[in-house]
Amino acid sequence: MKISDESQGLFPDAGLLVADFPAPPVTAVPDARPEIEPDFGEDTFRHILALAQARGYRFATFADYHATGAVPHSRCFFLRHDVDISPGMALRLGEIEHEHGVRGNFFFQFNAETYSFFVPETLGIIRALQGMGHCVGLHIDEQLTGTEEEAIAKTLDWVIDCVLPIDRTISFHRASRGNLGRRYERFLSAYDSRLFDAQSYLSDSRRSFAFYEPLMGWLGEGRPCIQLLLHPEWWGGVNRLDRFWDVLRDRRSEQLRRYMTTNFPKVFDGMLPTDDTNFLI
Ligand SMILES: [Zn+2]
Repeated sequence: MKISDESQGLFPDAGLLVADFPAPPVTAVPDARPEIEPDFGEDTFRHILALAQARGYRFATFADYHATGAVPHSRCFFLRHDVDISPGMALRLGEIEHEHGVRGNFFFQFNAETYSFFVPETLGIIRALQGMGHCVGLHIDEQLTGTEEEAIAKTLDWVIDCVLPIDRTISFHRASRGNLGRRYERFLSAYDSRLFDAQSYLSDSRRSFAFYEPLMGWLGEGRPCIQLLLHPEWWGGVNRLDRFWDVLRDRRSEQLRRYMTTNFPKVFDGMLPTDDTNFLI
């Protein structure tokens, strides 16, 4: 497979997860090859969804698994999105999944510097994802919340009781190795050993496309349970590091401008013009 230079190697330090397994062997499946040249883009994302469906996979949520304790289908696909950078792209992927009749699993972070959780924009995106039937949980930073069951369960309780009703599911941000495979009782971790091992898990962490060929092989052979982690920000079509930074900075700047002009209008109104822009990140 040829991967364009723009899609590979431009984000060498963008590691978002330490839970990477060695690349699994690839099973050759000639008829699983797409006609398109795969890359971080909407066409490839849609191709993954359509191919999984064509191979008989049913998309499942961690919330359903937490409720039943069982994988609901003989070919089960957990599509997971850790929202580290872009709620807007999370919504976009959720819309595409909805078009395909697919339910995904989205995990939002409290303490990212790239977006705010408790603002109307993000809460609106979470509600929109829930309205499409997606599972929404928390992306837990161990440095903030720790890893103990009680602290995380209380955090979930508080959000559910006081902010909005999310699912009792979590993933860990930059999970430490000691937490991989850990099973909790009061909520489900995406790293629960029942759903996470080297035979079932692939991700695009560090913006690496190395997951793609193994995924094609796994779909072709009909591996019973697949968990695929895709970070929404990589899939917005912004493939150059300098451009990625510009879009992120412009979006955060615009959000800050809106906050200041809305909350302190007598100070900032008229000084900072607002403009409506749709950002890709
Ligand atoms: Zn993360």
